[in-house]
Amino acid sequence: MNRSLTIIGGGFSGIAAAVRAAEAGKEPLLLERRPFLGGRAYSFSHDNLPYTVDNGQHVLMRCCTHVIDLLEKIGADEVSFQAGFRIPFLSKEGTAHILSAPSWLPTQLGLFVAFARYSPAGLSAALGLRRVQRDLRRPPTGVSVADWLKSSGQTDRIQRSFWIPLCRSVMNASPEDAPADELLTVLSEAFGTPSGAAMGWATTGLTELCASKARAFIESRGGQVRSSAFVTEMTQETDQWSLDLRNADTVVSKRVILAVPPLRAADLLGHVLPDLANLLTRYTPSPILGINLWFDRPIMNTAFVGFLDGSVEWVFDRQALTGQPSEHGYHYALVTSASSKLLEHDDADLVDIALDELRSRKLVQPDEEPVRTLVIQERQATYLRPLGDPPIPNGTDLSGLFLAGDWTDTSLPPTIEGAVRSGNRAADLALV
Ligand SMILES: Cc1cc2nc3c(=O)[nH]c(=O)nc-3n(C[C@H](O)[C@H](O)[C@H](O)COP(=O)(O)OP(=O)(O)OC[C@H]3O[C@@H](n4cnc5c(N)ncnc54)[C@H](O)[C@@H]3O)c2cc1C
Repeated sequence: MNRSLTIIGGGFSGIAAAVRAAEAGKEPLLLERRPFLGGRAYSFSHDNLPYTVDNGQHVLMRCCTHVIDLLEKIGADEVSFQAGFRIPFLSKEGTAHILSAPSWLPTQLGLFVAFARYSPAGLSAALGLRRVQRDLRRPPTGVSVADWLKSSGQTDRIQRSFWIPLCRSVMNASPEDAPADELLTVLSEAFGTPSGAAMGWATTGLTELCASKARAFIESRGGQVRSSAFVTEMTQETDQWSLDLRNADTVVSKRVILAVPPLRAADLLGHVLPDLANLLTRYTPSPILGINLWFDRPIMNTAFVGFLDGSVEWVFDRQALTGQPSEHGYHYALVTSASSKLLEHDDADLVDIALDELRSRKLVQPDEEPVRTLVIQERQATYLRPLGDPPIPNGTDLSGLFLAGDWTDTSLPPTIEGAVRSGNRAADLALV
């Protein structure tokens, strides 16, 4: 089979690249190892429930403009955003704090006002933002969030109640491992556009949101999507690439966008770009823990809440987010990012830890138990580039080979927005 452009990997980066190429009339071929598109953002049937369960709650912000554009383009409209930025938190003892900024404020004042009104922060923390403003304009590179927090004079209190939860959730990394420039880029985009920090989410399962609509968009423009198509080897021939599939098929393509996670990319690139492959083997997986609990009553009255100083960091009310029915129990998705410390616990332990967190915050009674539980440890939710290693660009030294993925150089942390930007950029390079 001969193609002009083949994309390997059907996560958000590969989908974005294929949609862009299809739109440009290039009839791309998208090869995905699994039977469905979506990559690390997917949903699945569970326990005969009348709705699917996500592999992990995914959150967007209104400043994720590339994701929003992609979803609009393919007709995936089952996404909802807050009217403005408003995040409720609960302290360990159950005290409520609200981090919010009115959407009519000039954008540059948003974070300042949010801090000033947020009780764990207050005016002194808001004034401490003056030092942050400079770095928002020109983020320092090669510095960890932890070191940057020290040098920018953020107090312990505001670190614990804002910066550390923000870093862990947005970067899926502890402040010691996360690059400060990516976190600051997110903040400046979120608070640099009107309502940019407003949170958003899919109002359906992640696979229903995007997979079939992306496939239909690509195929209706002459492209092709092949699922269960595992690329085992890629070889450069004179002016084309030869891709071997596990089922013994071979695809020959003039240009290739490799849109797989970094460790998979390292496997495929080992003999064509050994130096790059070596760099990619230095990336380390970072897990996200999802604990799904169903109760026989609603346990909270907000769509989501952040837990300060907890082993659980967020609780999402799936009824409120998606409108899913509650006759099989009220479903709550509890999330802990960068959860490597919890990896050794078994599911029963993790449910107990989650219940303790809910009980100490008085959302659940001491003797109350869930009617159903499901623990999902996504061990390779994202990948951390070693601090100081250069980010990997979307172009390569080899003719016709391009890279996409949330781990490539997008200036953003590993997120859906980063993935989509990388796919768009790789497609733009490949289509020249
Ligand atoms: C639990 C969890 C929660 C998350 N929460 C958020 C969130 O709230 N907000 C957010 O923005 N992001 C979140 N993320 C991160 C987000 O899901 C990823 O950043 C994004 O999906 C990555 O997309 P990608 O295309 O770069 O990679 P992937 O999604 O990994 O796509 C790569 C694809 O390549 C395929 N593939 C691999 N090898 C081959 C091969 N040899 N041949 C063919 N195909 C191959 C894979 O099957 C996969 O489908 C979360 C991730 C997880 C796991």
